[in-house]
Formats: sequence, structure tokens, C-alpha cells
Amino acid sequence: MLGDAQSFTLQEAPIMAVERTLSIIKPDATKRNLTGKINAKFEDAGLRIVAQKRIQLTMAQAGQFYIVHKDRPFYGELCEFMASKPVVVQVLEGEGAILKNREVMGATNPADAAPGTIRAEFAESVGENSVHGSDAPETAAEEIAYFFSGLELVG
Ligand code: UDP
Ligand code: MG
Repeated sequence: MLGDAQSFTLQEAPIMAVERTLSIIKPDATKRNLTGKINAKFEDAGLRIVAQKRIQLTMAQAGQFYIVHKDRPFYGELCEFMASKPVVVQVLEGEGAILKNREVMGATNPADAAPGTIRAEFAESVGENSVHGSDAPETAAEEIAYFFSGLELVG
């Protein structure tokens, strides 16, 4: 029946929304000259870099960015690490970009990260794990606005 065929097609080919997500290449990676290798993985996965800048965070800026973790035991060390050397902050765009970025990054702890992921290949430890990625649409919007104005998102 035509109706069945149509619903089958829709189920097999779900329409994914084009999303934007915040990515940070962390100090352990910028220090080791890994920016290009990391971004090749994002681009190979179909993610487009639509905004990008290299900056060095102050402790206050790192602390505010990771404020959600303020009661965790690693918070102080995390902020010091993030402010220790330059980072590359960037916006990645693509279909399902938030989840796709997290997949390309791999698990937080590199020991648990799937082969071929950025963290499996490059991360030094659970703390110095080369990349940050937003975890949901709300945090992606907040984190992008923390670093970029609308005028800086150039597509
Ligand atoms: N982190 C850490 N120790 C931990 C867990 C996290 O130093 O036990 C650091 C690590 O750099 C991580 C960041 O805190 O990337 C934020 O933690 P989250 O759980 O949000 O992991 P992510 O979203 O980065 O995978
Ligand atoms: Mg997180």
C-alpha cells in the first residue's frame, strides 16, 4: 500500500536538524601542535567550522565557562589547565552536529574512548583530554554565545 510505503521511507530516512555546537581544542593539544589533525577529524566527519579563534583564557573566564562543575573535586585543576596555554574555540555546524561532535571526540576518559576518536588518539589523561564539546542544544547555544557574537558566525 502507498501509505505503508511512505511511512517506511520516513522511518528509514529521518530528517536530522542542522545544528551548531561549541568545540574547544584544549591547551594540551594546541601545545603539541595538534590543531590541524584534530580539525581534520571534524571536517572528515562532515562538520563545518563556521567560526574560530585562538585565545588564552583567564582563570576567571575558564571558571565561568565550567561553572557547572564548580563543586567537583577537579574544578580548580581544570580551570588552571584551561588557562595555562592558548585554546582554539570554534563553532561546528552540520546535521546532528552536537552528537556527531561528541562521537568524533570520544569518551571523556581516553582509556574508554573508542578507537579512531580524537581522545583515543591524542588525549593525555581524563583531565587533559584535548577537546571540549557541548552536550545538548541548550548548552551549545549558551556556550557559543559565551565566545562569539552573531556577526562572527560566518557559515
Ligand atoms: N574532568 C577531569 N576529571 C574528571 C572528569 C572531568 O579533569 O574526573 C575534566 C575533563 O577535562 C573534562 C571536563 O572536566 O573534559 C568536563 O567534564 P565532563 O564530565 O563535562 O566531560 P566532557 O563533556 O568534556 O566529556
Ligand atoms: Mg561536558
